[in-house]
Order: sequence, then C-alpha cells, then structure tokens
Amino acid sequence: MHVLGISGGKDSAALAIYMKLKYPELPIEYYNADTGKELKETYDLLSKLEGFLGHIEPLKAAKGTTEATPFDHFLKLYNNFLPSTQARWCTEKMKLSEFETYIGKDLAISYVGIRGDEEREGYVSTRTNIQTIFPFRRNIWSLEVINKVLGNENISFLLKFYSQNAKNTYIEDILEIIERPLTKAFYYSKKINALLDFDVKLFNRAVFEFLKTTDYPIGKLDTFPLIENDDVIGLADVKKILIDSNVGIPAYYNEIEFEVDGRKGTYARSRSGCFFCFYQQKIEWIWLYEQHPDLFKQAMEYEKSGYTWNDNERLSDLIKPERVKQIKIDYLNRLELKRKKFKSNFLIDILEEDKVNCANCFL
Ligand code: SF4
Repeated sequence: MHVLGISGGKDSAALAIYMKLKYPELPIEYYNADTGKELKETYDLLSKLEGFLGHIEPLKAAKGTTEATPFDHFLKLYNNFLPSTQARWCTEKMKLSEFETYIGKDLAISYVGIRGDEEREGYVSTRTNIQTIFPFRRNIWSLEVINKVLGNENISFLLKFYSQNAKNTYIEDILEIIERPLTKAFYYSKKINALLDFDVKLFNRAVFEFLKTTDYPIGKLDTFPLIENDDVIGLADVKKILIDSNVGIPAYYNEIEFEVDGRKGTYARSRSGCFFCFYQQKIEWIWLYEQHPDLFKQAMEYEKSGYTWNDNERLSDLIKPERVKQIKIDYLNRLELKRKKFKSNFLIDILEEDKVNCANCFL
C-alpha cells in the first residue's frame, strides 16, 4: 500500500497534490482520520482536496457508537477526562490506532509532509510493516533507516556501493567520509549531510539497495521513483502548490482584523485539528470565541465536568472582557517582536514558529 494521511493542515494537503501531480503512477490511497470535531474550514479543505485527488478514505473511530462523534464516544469511556498534552488519548484512539487498523498486516509506505525547511522528525509507526517517507525533505528517509544505513557495521556495504556507482570526481573524498566510523564528534547528521551534499540521488540509490537486504516495505519494490527526487519543498512552495492547484490555503489561516486599545492587528488560527484542541494559544481561543461562538460554547460545555482545556484557566474566565483585552495586547506585543525577526508581513509565516510537533493532527 502507498498511503498519505490528510490532516486538514496545509502541508499534508500540499504533499497530496504534489504526489498526485509528480507521481501519478503511484497508487496512493489518501485517508483522513476524523474526530468529528474539526472546524468547518477544515472540512471545506477536505472536500476541495477530494475534488482534486479523488476519494479520501474517511477513518472514523468508534463505528456504531450511539454518541454524536468519535470524540464524544471516547470522552465517555474516559469518564469525561479531557485530553491534554500529558494525556493525549485523543490522538492515540482516533488517529494512530485507526490508521494502524486501516493498514492491518499489509506492507505500507506512508508519505508524510514534514517540509524541507523544518527541523523535526515526523511520527514514525512502530509497526515494522509501515515505512515512513518524507518527500518534501532532502533526506526522505526516517531516522531509524538512516541509523541502520550509516551504522558502523554497514560501512563496507556503502564503500562497495559508492566505489561502483559514484562518478570519479571527488570519489576519494566521499570514500574517506564513508570509511570514517561514527563517533561522538562525527555523528549521524554530519555524515548524512556530507553524503547528501555529495549527491542526493546517489545516496538514495544506496539506501534503496540497502533496504533490499531488509524486510522494510520499500525493499520489496523493484523500483521506487522517489529515490530520483532531490526537491526540497519549503513553506513558500507549499503555499504555491495550494494556490496553483486552486485548492487554496485553508480558510482558518485568513487574517481577520481586530482593534484593541486603539491598536489594530490581525489574528487567525495556526493549525487544523479539533476546534477545542488544548494545543491552541490563548489568542486562538479568542479567535474561536469571536469567529465561531457556537463552537466556543460547545468547548465550554465540556468543562462542566470539572476538567479544563487549559491548565490554569477555565474558558469562562478567559472570555471576561478585561482578560480578552489583555490576551489581545500580549499577542500584538509578541507579534511585533516576531515580525522583526521573520521580516514577513504574513501571519501564516509567523504562526509557523508556534506550530506544535504533531504529524497526525496539524501537518
Ligand atoms: S487536534 Fe488536538 S484535541 Fe484533536 S485529536 Fe489532535 S491533539 Fe487531540
């Protein structure tokens, strides 16, 4: 199986479009794990994407439940205990385990949209039948594959491959790098960067040959077109892919003006995911309160159980006029500092910095 999860965020949406256009020969299945609590803007994006890609398989946890949504089903099972950064049962129950059930025991390649300008690793399944690939990065391979390929026990394999396949220019230099064992001073990232600087496609071909000696899903393929890809896709490219395809940037990124204490500013939401997600910043809660009051009210209803979405503040306190004003002023002050640092007037660029590392909900 070739699978690609659409979270409702811009990066996974752009990746799906990119793969569809660049690798139409790959039989990629697109899926979306729905908690039933996304914003309307996210569902709109999904339906536009479906127009472009074709079918997106909806993965819905708790099928057959009498509760209104999968989230409400699990909330009941957890005795109204709201999920939080420390107890993220929501992702586990409604996204990860649904995904693994969907794949079953088949061999699968999962394409994940971590961008080339990001410094983070995406979620990699612990199941050995699922292999993750990051097409937007210069290094498309997951960390555990790199650890094996560059491990000291694999030096002779790489030496042989490069001796036979590298062009003669600089060959001595690259063989010297391959021969150098990994140490505390010469670690994985240094070695991989040297090999990628030398030739991305050659490195990918070496990894592909190595995988053929293992049980990894990609090792079972005769060909894998992504090894010939050295694109690096960053935020500006993602925006361009979305605009050029007419799918567009998710509407929750639209900047909305507000005024506080005579100062003007704009706010937006920085991520997809459930409307009540505990990862959102205070200003995003205010955005929800002012732009989607019905959803904010629903989020407040969940706090009636005594549990709260935020550690130190109930939603009913957060919307007191003085508090709203303070949150907006604090946000504008932070934004001013960030605009200087990022030299961008677009909120979408600045919000990137605050993005939470969750490849399942916000990618
Ligand atoms: S968006 Fe937030 S609340 Fe929803 S499943 Fe993901 S982490 Fe949980």
